[in-house]
Amino acid sequence: MDPRHAILFEPVTIGPKTLPNRFYQVPHASGFGSLKPRTQAAFRAIKAEGGWGGVCVEYAPVSRDSDEVPAVAAGFWDDSDARALALTADAIHAHGALAGLELFHGGGLSVNGESRSARLAPTQLASEVQFGSLAKEMTAADIARVQRDWAEAARRAAGAGFDIVYVYGAHGYLVTQFLSPVTNRRTDGYGGTLAGRGRFWLETLEAVRAAVGDECAVATRIAVHGADGLPGVQADEMLELVAMADHLVDLWDVNVGSWPEDSGTSRYYPEGSQRPWTDRVRAATSKPVVAVGRYSSPDLMADVIRSGAADLIGAARQAIADPFLPRKIADGRLDEIRECTGSNICILREEAFRHVGCVQNATAGEEYRRGWHPEVFSRAANAEQPALVVGAGPAGLECAIVLGKRGFTAVHLIEAEPEIGGRLRWTRRLPTLGDWGRIVDWRAIQLGKLPGVEVITGHQMTAAEILGYGAGIVVIATGSTWRGDGVQPGRPDRISGADPGLAHVLTPEQVAAGKRPPGPSVIVYDTDGYYVAPGVAELLAGEGFKVTVVTTFPVLSPVSDETLEGGMLRAHLHRHGVHVQRGITITGIEPGSARGHDEYAEPWSASCHGTVLVTQQASKDELYRELTGDPAALARAGIQAAYLIGDAVAPRLISEAVFDGHRLAREIDLPDAAVPAPFLREHPDLASHRQRTVQD
Ligand code: ADP
Repeated sequence: MDPRHAILFEPVTIGPKTLPNRFYQVPHASGFGSLKPRTQAAFRAIKAEGGWGGVCVEYAPVSRDSDEVPAVAAGFWDDSDARALALTADAIHAHGALAGLELFHGGGLSVNGESRSARLAPTQLASEVQFGSLAKEMTAADIARVQRDWAEAARRAAGAGFDIVYVYGAHGYLVTQFLSPVTNRRTDGYGGTLAGRGRFWLETLEAVRAAVGDECAVATRIAVHGADGLPGVQADEMLELVAMADHLVDLWDVNVGSWPEDSGTSRYYPEGSQRPWTDRVRAATSKPVVAVGRYSSPDLMADVIRSGAADLIGAARQAIADPFLPRKIADGRLDEIRECTGSNICILREEAFRHVGCVQNATAGEEYRRGWHPEVFSRAANAEQPALVVGAGPAGLECAIVLGKRGFTAVHLIEAEPEIGGRLRWTRRLPTLGDWGRIVDWRAIQLGKLPGVEVITGHQMTAAEILGYGAGIVVIATGSTWRGDGVQPGRPDRISGADPGLAHVLTPEQVAAGKRPPGPSVIVYDTDGYYVAPGVAELLAGEGFKVTVVTTFPVLSPVSDETLEGGMLRAHLHRHGVHVQRGITITGIEPGSARGHDEYAEPWSASCHGTVLVTQQASKDELYRELTGDPAALARAGIQAAYLIGDAVAPRLISEAVFDGHRLAREIDLPDAAVPAPFLREHPDLASHRQRTVQD
């Protein structure tokens, strides 16, 4: 180990417990909750195995009037929840780490899609995010009951083996709703002054402390005012409150502002961006502090600890991207650390798909159901076969690496372009997307370490060449390309006049390669909804073009809302002078103008010198079709199997292309590796359920 990093491996005492080191996986959602207990346990255990000294489960509602359905939280209402999550505590302990449970109540932000209970809030005010129903203003009895629920949940957590229990007070949930004068207008002793608004929090801490005694450390998670603000709670007030509550707390888990700022993406927040705010907490407490900020650099982590501002390095996203980061630092294997790209695909996946995933770590969320380990690879039964992977985009890169790790000794990865990376060759150069390049950079380094894998760039493979190559296994990962004909969702015909051979019609790839509109005004037409249109728009605006993004969607880049960056992306483009027209469908392009209709079918047109079409991609699967079109030729060539992976199958998120490449290589020695093997699913245990009739 580099002696500069030794400080990261010192134990830290938190109340009655001692963390083995300073690496702490803060609570974060996974989509597993307590309903997929084995998936949850395996997902958290891998982090403990990788060296994280403290590992926490996500937000765990303590009361029946706090549920997140349709989102997934770790419901902790009763003993059956406790039994489910005890698996996780045990699995974390098996690797010597401490297990934490983030007990919480959502208050006015609860959804209660499952329980149908009225939401509770300090004051009955309409919420900015929960439409259509107001919350109930909590009575004194409600307050006492929720605090009792919290204490009982803490006892259950202690019984289930958790070492750390939380009073979760960040991200705008019930505790913060009491703290904020914007959401708390009470006059009954739980509102008004800071002491009044903080009373719910302090009493809850007292109740939890009393419930767990010396069995658990009590942590509390707070947000201090960041650049984005926290409605009504100023940083100075928050620090005053920290001092008031310090005697009740064993660990301060600190972040900033709102969730989009706290989990700020790499597009807008650099590593360690929270420090100007979170560093201030140190002066208000004598207890250990855990700070987050998408830390992936061991030097920076050690600096944070040495500065005294924090005692623990907290991570959610980096712990997903590399569960083995601590071990790699301990071993001095720094170039093996899979650095988080800060794209927030993990959040998109757990929120939108209810199953966490990661663009850097294809095994995230697959530990239980597919039995994948991020660092352990079994030798493939057919590892002696020479293998050829065509295309070094995210899918081909990942596939070649995993084949190499599974013991293949003759893998050739062949790329047509002089540089590896596929679509990331150009997307990583779009404004704000630089850190996405980590996907390629990490893979380039790992390929260099695998003696069995050779990378050949600048060579376009043909079907005839592949047949004569001598490979037993062929993997085609030739990716996709943006269509220049304007075919778009719901309109399978080309946009009239859309021809990327013309000077005034452009594809994103043409822009990346240097093609520019013939005059200063340009429309970027977006029916894709994610990062390409905003990236191209900002690039062109930065060069002085007058850019308007015209989109069919009601907001620009709706997918970016799933990664928490939609609001900041739109504000960012606005600051860069990019105009937006929403709800417009373009149906025709001429030199000097584009035309179409609005959401009411009213005609629409605009003058522009050029139009960039970000409508739809198309798989580049011709090579695969040609190759597999003649099975007899394949057999004569000794090719036992030819597979298609990544965008060449279907253009998708980069995380899914990486997954596809990984999946094939993990299953390459199964009888039909083209078809994903069945994976384990967690069904409710019907045997343990009491039958209920409608008369019950
Ligand atoms: P994916 O995300 O599925 O990996 P990409 O489009 O990002 O897809 O990458 C595909 C890569 O395949 C590109 O780098 C492209 O240059 C390369 N490629 C496409 N056709 C060939 C070919 N015939 N020979 C070698 N490389 C190819």
